[in-house]
Amino acid sequence: MAKPVLMFDSLSCCEGCGLQVLNCETDLLPILEKADIGRFREASDGDVDHYNVAFVEGSIVTPHDIERIQEIRAKTDLLVALGACATHGGVNFLKNFQDPDDVAKYVYGDKRAWFPHVAARPLKAEVRVDAEIPGCPINPREFLEAATCLLTGKPFKLPNYPVCVPCKLADNVCLWHKGAACLGVVTRAGCDPYLCPSAGHKCIGCRGLVDKPNTQAAKDVMAEFGLTVDDILREFRLFQGIYKEVAQEA
Ligand code: SF4
Ligand code: SF4
Ligand code: SF4
Repeated sequence: MAKPVLMFDSLSCCEGCGLQVLNCETDLLPILEKADIGRFREASDGDVDHYNVAFVEGSIVTPHDIERIQEIRAKTDLLVALGACATHGGVNFLKNFQDPDDVAKYVYGDKRAWFPHVAARPLKAEVRVDAEIPGCPINPREFLEAATCLLTGKPFKLPNYPVCVPCKLADNVCLWHKGAACLGVVTRAGCDPYLCPSAGHKCIGCRGLVDKPNTQAAKDVMAEFGLTVDDILREFRLFQGIYKEVAQEA
């Protein structure tokens, strides 16, 4: 029996999430025993007519990105958004805070007409997405788990508790007590063992919100440390799609 076919592609992004897949190295072998790779933009040439699972990183920033994601959607059974760019718009969303013509002028100067662009958006703004693997970049362990589940028909579920849980289990002193507005209170866990607070860095929300963030508890923490909801929303601007979610919750 033919193996299922996987595909990896990139829209506008740094391609760090595709690199994380390649960084799995020998851990990819069990996946490759169960599936063939029909296309992997970052690793090889070639393409096929149909994929069973397409993993796409990057956000939609150009008319070409829109055409490309529609082409991929038409050729695949399942579409998985890979990384914060694909799930929420990621860092590309920052351009949406500026006048789009100013941004194009700053980047492309008098050649800006050669580079048509649209407001940055995640994959789900244009096509149906069947699963999301969040993070900037993705956690390779979570990718392996998702790929195994999708290939074996098992449900793939993201953790639905905040980053504070593994942070506390790691015995970290909360960074709020060191003057940092850490977003782990409302951000979806799953990045460990690459947990930023364990390295002394505040969580900046790259994995998006848990399904039902405890916004009242978050507000209480902010009030205790003299910050307002607006202060914390500014922290979420790095991942602007997440900023929009939080703004609705606030
Ligand atoms: S989510 Fe982050 S690492 Fe992944 S492609 Fe986007 S910018 Fe790069
Ligand atoms: S707010 Fe940040 S530093 Fe404090 S417990 Fe939560 S994740 Fe850890
Ligand atoms: S701690 Fe926060 S910013 Fe760091 S990887 Fe995890 S979710 Fe992303």
